[in-house]
Amino acid sequence: MLGGPPWFTSNWLEGDRRFVELTYIFIVGSSLVLLSVVSVFAIRNLSVAGSRAFLLQIVFVTIWSIGSLLEMLSQTEQEMLLWRNIEQIGVFFLPVACVYFAVDYARYDRMKKYVPLLLIIPVIAILLIFTDSSTHIMRTGYTVSYSPIFGKALSVQQTGIGKVFVAYNYVLAFASLVILFVFSRQVSKGPRRQVMLVLVATGLVFVLAFFKAAFLEGTRINLPIVTIYLPGGLILFYNLYKNDFFSVSPVARDKAFDVIELGILVTDGSGMIADINPCAVQILSACFGIREKLTGRKMDDVFGAFPDWVDLTSRFAAGETELHLTANDPCFIHIRVYPLQSRRGPSIGSVTIMRDVTVLREQEFALKLKAETDSLTGLLNRESFMDQFAQELGNTAPTGAPVSVLMMDLDKFKGINDTYGHNNGDQVIRAFADLLRDALRHEDAVARIGGDEFAAVLPGVGGKEAVEIADRILIAANDRAVQLDSELSVQLKLSIGICDNAIAKSEEEMLKCADKAMYMAKSKAGNCCVVWE
Ligand code: GH3
Ligand code: MG
Repeated sequence: MLGGPPWFTSNWLEGDRRFVELTYIFIVGSSLVLLSVVSVFAIRNLSVAGSRAFLLQIVFVTIWSIGSLLEMLSQTEQEMLLWRNIEQIGVFFLPVACVYFAVDYARYDRMKKYVPLLLIIPVIAILLIFTDSSTHIMRTGYTVSYSPIFGKALSVQQTGIGKVFVAYNYVLAFASLVILFVFSRQVSKGPRRQVMLVLVATGLVFVLAFFKAAFLEGTRINLPIVTIYLPGGLILFYNLYKNDFFSVSPVARDKAFDVIELGILVTDGSGMIADINPCAVQILSACFGIREKLTGRKMDDVFGAFPDWVDLTSRFAAGETELHLTANDPCFIHIRVYPLQSRRGPSIGSVTIMRDVTVLREQEFALKLKAETDSLTGLLNRESFMDQFAQELGNTAPTGAPVSVLMMDLDKFKGINDTYGHNNGDQVIRAFADLLRDALRHEDAVARIGGDEFAAVLPGVGGKEAVEIADRILIAANDRAVQLDSELSVQLKLSIGICDNAIAKSEEEMLKCADKAMYMAKSKAGNCCVVWE
């Protein structure tokens, strides 16, 4: 039989006491062994987000559990009280570890630096608890209860202040649940199940702890805290280390953001630039000459010159546009905007994907040019000439404005080829093309439509005026002596046929008429022009 107060001996046989104590030791011991195994694994995987905080949780649960075990095994009330006080270190620090866990797991790095502030209250509480025997700030007294099933335990009566401190623990516990909940709303579908499970596991610990505090405190049932923590703790462990895709996925997303060869620019609900990846920085620096930091600046301050783009981001609308910059070297940037919505629906910003398509556009432009022009002279070829001719007639049809077409063919050109060679013939063709470019206006479509055949559409010009222009071309041609390689030069002579839209309507018809007129000019010995009447 033991000494001490009556409750140590009354109604409690030595055999029963041993059994209860051994059962309790077994439960706490085996749970702690399990948690130790888990801890070893956690220590070896400290880089997994949430690991350190998870280990801290186990440390505080262990302090709490061993404290309560030794409390039960104590021989005197003083001893019980000492262990109860030590237990409180776990009680007060576990909620802080839970908040730290939630913040670390969710990678809310900005919040992380404030977590140490949460330790102020627990540190004060522990100091007050250990000095309570002289100050009585935290407790008014205590009684000892014992149970034939779960052994004996101290039941502490708290002061109002003591209750406030305990309430702080519940606030922190609740905060960690809120953080995890918010995080679960932010993650994409894949990992959300896992975050929900972490939420449930964390919630489970606190629901059970609350249940113990609210309904079992002071009763004969003294549940070891480790058994309350164990189910939730093991679920947390499973989630942290089993589904390691979750720890990989966000890191991979960040990496992709950094290395992807597409510019990404994120704006928030107020139109402020919230994030920008290195590729976007590079595009903006190369094309806009922007070198300063853009995050934190307003879209319309920086990109006001591109209202289409700014408009898409500010309306949270999906769409695309292309920015064409001509300041230095020409730049083409393809912009595609995607709105960002919170899970509940409201728009919270937008993400712009930008691609520098300058090379692509330049290649397209070169291909188009190649397809539309004659390689020898750079004038339009027959197909694009006919397209532009038809377009011109379409444009002028409603206004009834005059349009003329000139058909031109060099006279006796074969002779130049035969006498001086094909290269010199080419030289003559190029010289005549230059002459036409000089003689005609920018808006006139000029083409080489065959070997030594040229055509020009003159918008706003009727047959009479076209004759004057044709005469000018003839004079300029006759005046031009084209230099050949043999230090000889030849004079240009040509026949011109003219037709205007008063005579024929379609481009084919007009060209046919001009062609006939041109042959009439040839038949008059050439070097002259004829209008098709
Ligand atoms: P006409 O006065 O009746 O127009 O007689 P022509 O000698 O000019 O003969 P025609 O217009 O019928 O023939 C044009 C010649 O142009 C035929 C061809 O050998 C030559 N030719 C066609 N394409 C090219 C080219 O790309 N380069 C060169 N040098 N000659 C070409
Ligand atoms: Mg000819």
